[in-house]
Amino acid sequence: MPGDGDFREWQAKAACRGPQAAAFYPPASGERRDERRLREREAKEICDHCAVVGRCLEMALAGREAYGIWGGTNESERRVLIEA
Ligand code: SF4
Repeated sequence: MPGDGDFREWQAKAACRGPQAAAFYPPASGERRDERRLREREAKEICDHCAVVGRCLEMALAGREAYGIWGGTNESERRVLIEA
């Protein structure tokens, strides 16, 4: 886990800051499978151009983030990486 300064620097470089952050988590109202696929694809495309994608994925794996898109992966993809 990075220190406070490191974490702030990481957050400042995150490409998912702002209104596009909504694509990274399912809506509270739920979503159909095809809606989820589209939302996740949109979020992953943002991750593809993010300067901190490697550190983000590292943190998500270390913290066992159970929900959302982190470092270009969804929760089931992270589970596979953790079990590998
Ligand atoms: S890799 Fe994706 S989830 Fe992580 S900070 Fe960047 S845009 Fe956000």
